[in-house]
Amino acid sequence: MDQLTLAQARSWIDATASVIAENAPHLSELDQAIGDGDHGANMTRGFTAVVKKLTDGAKTDDLGGLFKLVGMTLLSSVGGASGPLYGGFFLDLGKQCAGKQTLDAQALTAVLESGLNDIKRRGKAEIGDKTMVDALTPAIEAMKAASHDVTSATRAAAETARDAATKTAPLLARKGRASYLGERSIGHEDPGANSMALLLGALAGVCHE
Ligand code: ADP
Ligand code: MG
Repeated sequence: MDQLTLAQARSWIDATASVIAENAPHLSELDQAIGDGDHGANMTRGFTAVVKKLTDGAKTDDLGGLFKLVGMTLLSSVGGASGPLYGGFFLDLGKQCAGKQTLDAQALTAVLESGLNDIKRRGKAEIGDKTMVDALTPAIEAMKAASHDVTSATRAAAETARDAATKTAPLLARKGRASYLGERSIGHEDPGANSMALLLGALAGVCHE
């Protein structure tokens, strides 16, 4: 498929809410090991609030409006470190998509890369710090390398992010609560890298032909 449409973007958000809720116990278990155990609950609270706003009929005329609504809602409901990071990410997507009804693979990659840069700026995180940045960065590189249709690009992103989330285990955490553990953060996967992989997995799911 060559374009992500507004209807698919809406389905992406719904699918993310479902997959986050299903995997909440796992995300919290990961956060229990190197944080405070709330990542699953935080993310579920946020995406449940988003879906409620959408089903209550919040008006989103374009991709910009949809992502802005997601960002504002996550900002006000998720809390923790991940709330401002995911909230800022979607607000940035909203800005990039103002007035747009569709995105082709190249535009979608550029929009996600801008969102990644927002996370890095806000969190002062770089690749290798054992955060959600470690899942999203290689996923975007994979999208650039994939053939230029939305189905292949998002599939590449999802597979790469899944793999990259697993590869955060041997890393030493340099940001967020996990960094307080120092060497003891080694050997556990990062919860935020895992939630980011779920988000990209949901995107690939709705872009599947
Ligand atoms: P908290 O750590 O406040 O309890 P969460 O548990 O919801 O918040 O989210 C933790 C996740 O947030 C981490 O696994 C990591 O991926 C991400 N994170 C934390 N701090 C940063 C940061 N400075 N930059 C990027 N990501 C971060
Ligand atoms: Mg936590």
